[in-house]
Amino acid sequence: MEEKYSGFYLFLNLVLIVLFGVSLFTIKLTTFNIVIFSIVLIVQVGLAAYIKFLHQDIMKKLVDTEKNLMVSEREIKHKTYFDEITKLPNERYLLDKIEENLHVNPYDKAVLVFEIDRLASIKSSLGSVYSDCLLRKVAQRLQDQLSDQLIIGKLRDDQFVILIDHYESRDDILKFCKQLQKIMETPFEIQYFSLNNSLNIGISFYPKDAESELDLIKFAQIAAYEARNTQEHILFYETSMSDVRTERVTLENDLFNALKNNELFLEYQPQVDTMTGEIISMEALVRWRHPKRGLVSPGEFIPVAEESGLINPIGKWVLETACYQTKKLQDKIDRPIQIAVNLSLCQLFQGDFVQTVQQILEKTELSPQSLQLELTESMTMNTDHLTPILHDLKSLGVSLAVDDFGTGYSSLSYLRDLPIDCLKIDCSFVKNIQQDTSNEPIVDMIISMAKHLNLKVVAEGVEEITQFNYLMKSKCDFIQGYLFSRPISIEQIFDTLCNLQHIAKEMIQSLQEDLTHEAVRKSL
Ligand code: C2E
Ligand code: MG
Ligand code: MG
Repeated sequence: MEEKYSGFYLFLNLVLIVLFGVSLFTIKLTTFNIVIFSIVLIVQVGLAAYIKFLHQDIMKKLVDTEKNLMVSEREIKHKTYFDEITKLPNERYLLDKIEENLHVNPYDKAVLVFEIDRLASIKSSLGSVYSDCLLRKVAQRLQDQLSDQLIIGKLRDDQFVILIDHYESRDDILKFCKQLQKIMETPFEIQYFSLNNSLNIGISFYPKDAESELDLIKFAQIAAYEARNTQEHILFYETSMSDVRTERVTLENDLFNALKNNELFLEYQPQVDTMTGEIISMEALVRWRHPKRGLVSPGEFIPVAEESGLINPIGKWVLETACYQTKKLQDKIDRPIQIAVNLSLCQLFQGDFVQTVQQILEKTELSPQSLQLELTESMTMNTDHLTPILHDLKSLGVSLAVDDFGTGYSSLSYLRDLPIDCLKIDCSFVKNIQQDTSNEPIVDMIISMAKHLNLKVVAEGVEEITQFNYLMKSKCDFIQGYLFSRPISIEQIFDTLCNLQHIAKEMIQSLQEDLTHEAVRKSL
């Protein structure tokens, strides 16, 4: 377009120069005319040059944009099909590749899944920097020492997969598996550590065990899991392998997709102040709506997530969503409300956990004082490792609570050593208040201990007015339970907040009146 214009201007200039020359010879031009004529000519030439410059600039920008698009496209493709840590093809790529291979070349094949035995414990003891480095080194060694004809890929976490296109017998495969174990025998040097690791290998055959690429991988995963308990750590898939394991691997795989497919969501349970009836805090509880099984309870899937390492991305999602939704709620009700989020041990041992919390708080604009992190008592056994992390979290301004207090008792000294703000009395102690009086001294003891240590106390699982009455009299600070509300969506929290507070206040008032009457009766 601009090229056309600049051509047009050049042509116009030529015409003007010719006209100028002709007029010089034919008519007698005044100085004024010559000046005007020259100005017009200069402007024309200037315009033509400017348009040419514009054109070149636009063309350069277009070429740059095209180049950037190509780079982004390449990056997206790489992220979709390659594992970020090892740079090996990922599960999606492998599924496509195996499917393609089955169509083109439908002969007997074997799928090998192998897992690095101690990766999870390396991750929790040394941190993800070491475990990621180990994964990279394993991938490198595989690529260096195995034939490049083999399709090698990375499944999630600690699992790798190899597709063997042609094999003569099961013995061939067995030999190959042993070779694989040998390759991994030499320890991996990572900074100051020399890490040994062993492999658990599971094998499934096409078409004997399964005909679909998904089942082939799943069955090899089941066999790899079972291989942990064998002497050779190598196992061929058998249909007789326990259904429980199949269910577990299926659940693990489904959970892996749950985050991607938005199947997880949060519910919130209010915590009522026993003095004022105000709701100034709530707990976030994760829920999973499974496409086939319906709602799966966290009691069932959190342990699976913890064992498979999926708890880290899930925990991060929970934290971010809870902070984001709480901030929105605060903006709507125009006052602070604290959110308590449950943590798992592996999350705390991620090298960058404190940084992640800080980034989430900054991103969601939730004030650190509005976030409480819930630990369980069993975590506190690891005091040496935990103390600096908890102090760093505290210096962000976040508060810390011990969940299910009283169930995982080891040594109470952690209450003195760790920067804890709050104890949550476990449901099991609250459940029997006033039915089985043997629990009451425990509840009283926890409350009194907390008061001495200057800690807040929340009682969980309060279902009965009698329990509330007792806890109120014992000066428990907050209660949480079905008596006031089950865990509900954030929208429902917003809709019912005033109503819930109103009910709580009325309940507290009537209980206090009863208390006064009782006191008066006693004094008479
Ligand atoms: P928790 O953190 O101790 O949560 C309290 C549990 O008690 C919740 O079960 C809640 O629904 C239930 N509850 C509350 N009030 C009552 C009541 O009055 N009566 C009875 N019978 N139960 C009550 P839920 O939601 O099934 O969660 C179970 C556990 O799963 C949680 O126990 C927590 O340990 C874990 N969990 C839940 N969400 C997360 C999460 O985002 N991350 C991690 N790591 N764990 C989570
Ligand atoms: Mg909790
Ligand atoms: Mg609890």
